[in-house]
Amino acid sequence: MNNPPRKKIAFHTLGCKLNFTETSTISRSFPEDQFERVPASSQADIYVINTCSVTDTADRKCKQAIRKFINQSPGAFIAVVGCYAQLRPQEIALIPGVDLVLGTNEKFDAARYISELGKKKKAEVHSCEVSASGPFIPSWSAGDRTRSFLKVQDGCDYGCSYCTIPLARGQSRNPDIGTLVAEAETIASAGIKEIVITGVNVGDFGKSTGDTFTGLMRELVRVRGIERFRISSIEPNLLTDELIAFCADNSKVLPHFHIPLQSGCNRMLALMGRRYRRELFSGRVEQVKRRIPLAGLGADVITGFPGETDQDAEETYTFLESLPLSYLHVFTFSERPGTRASGMTGRVTRETKDIRSRMLTGLSRKKHKEFLLLNKNRTAGVLFERTRSEGMITGYTENYIRVEYPWNSALAGTIRKVKLKELSGENRMSIDIID
Ligand code: SF4
Repeated sequence: MNNPPRKKIAFHTLGCKLNFTETSTISRSFPEDQFERVPASSQADIYVINTCSVTDTADRKCKQAIRKFINQSPGAFIAVVGCYAQLRPQEIALIPGVDLVLGTNEKFDAARYISELGKKKKAEVHSCEVSASGPFIPSWSAGDRTRSFLKVQDGCDYGCSYCTIPLARGQSRNPDIGTLVAEAETIASAGIKEIVITGVNVGDFGKSTGDTFTGLMRELVRVRGIERFRISSIEPNLLTDELIAFCADNSKVLPHFHIPLQSGCNRMLALMGRRYRRELFSGRVEQVKRRIPLAGLGADVITGFPGETDQDAEETYTFLESLPLSYLHVFTFSERPGTRASGMTGRVTRETKDIRSRMLTGLSRKKHKEFLLLNKNRTAGVLFERTRSEGMITGYTENYIRVEYPWNSALAGTIRKVKLKELSGENRMSIDIID
């Protein structure tokens, strides 16, 4: 007897690296003998949309994506999962054409739910409260097999006044170190050379198991086959001297730190509910530069938080200008229902927010250029990507400089020593390969 034809399934992810990592894990749970994975741009029988709800723009993009797939393949089964699905399940269920809504914990059971269901007249919602800490579901992504994202931690207990993540993902939790070492070994056996450590608040690793983040890194670097570990982002108060020293002394941990600052004004940091003053942040940056002078250093910053005056914004600008950062990620404040910030007075107009964002984006460009020029004529190790872009192959140095070289398929997925030559475009450099 012939097997029934495989169903075509497509995945679409919005939001952060953690979401991409989790989509990878969800997609591996669909058996290959029953489901054929196809690109989201093509006709599919099933679409799984993993959503984000970090800003109101993110919410809008989620709704647009849902409608796009419904129009692209009328009659396809539409499953919406992830943070937006956790926070606003009924809102999504009311969109005509949506069949299934799965929250933060339930999304990892998508294969079971979808196998059991047919196209619905009304969406089915499975989304439980995440206020209690849910289970930790290990996740890693393979992507194009250049690097893998390994989720080491989920949730957050910090309660910053603007943030919906604790509402969507629950309390901080992590698995034990042995579980993550085993996952890293699986990733190594797939021939992947770089692991990006991801989570909601990775520096908080160990809270639920009595370990520390540095302790985790100590064990991970022993995994054979993985040559580079990059820490995706770490809160400034968790970037300890011990961790900086470990990174300085261990060439497998890349000299690149992305540190959320959010404001360079102490009054705003207090309103945001952040756990440090700006002096702590600058102290961490100085310590990194003291131990690893060429480290790449990035920071997140929010403009237009309620109550931010021109003087506060200027303080933030001057503070950031004074620090040896290599780039900034600038976010415009957006009010999220259910957060403390949504009830705060002193709203900043859209126009003012935009002006402040443009100023900081300009500062970021200037800082990035200075950082690239500082690295000119230096040697570095580059992991080359497997994708071709406009006749070029690209990759990242240890300290997160994007480089490009005329396409050569033999370089794809390899780590090579290069000499950085000139700026090529605004944010990358040309190179010579030296071995
Ligand atoms: S540290 Fe603050 S901003 Fe970051 S996830 Fe936790 S609550 Fe949100």
